[in-house]
Amino acid sequence: MLCSDCLFCKIIQKKIPADIVYEDDNILGFNDINPQAPVHVLFIPKNRHIEKISDIKKEDHEIIGQLVSAANKIAKKNNIVDDGFRLVFNCNKNAGQAVFHIHLHLLGGRIFSWPPG
Ligand code: AMP
Ligand code: ZN
Repeated sequence: MLCSDCLFCKIIQKKIPADIVYEDDNILGFNDINPQAPVHVLFIPKNRHIEKISDIKKEDHEIIGQLVSAANKIAKKNNIVDDGFRLVFNCNKNAGQAVFHIHLHLLGGRIFSWPPG
């Protein structure tokens, strides 16, 4: 179920434009509007509005696999697998979650520090 007042649900419904780089029956991937790395793509579930990663239930496990699989495909397409990349889910305020429709960040094309800031 999608919702009318969620930014990413609006992108799924093509009510707001996005620079889409991946789409299948379940997942949409689009470039982040404020990229933090040369490759910065957000992957979201297309058929369900789930607010945050802590809401994931057993019946949602397939969605997480689909998000990671889509991110892997785009990482390969961008030739960032050998050098390495980062996948991130931000959850709630301490992690800086700004959009409450789960999204997997794919970040690559530069060296990342650890621990993260
Ligand atoms: P988070 O902090 O994990 O909630 O990340 C939300 C991300 O969404 C940020 O990296 C934003 O730059 C990105 N973002 C916000 N609005 C848009 C948009 N209209 N199109 C693409 N990315 C967006
Ligand atoms: Zn949504």
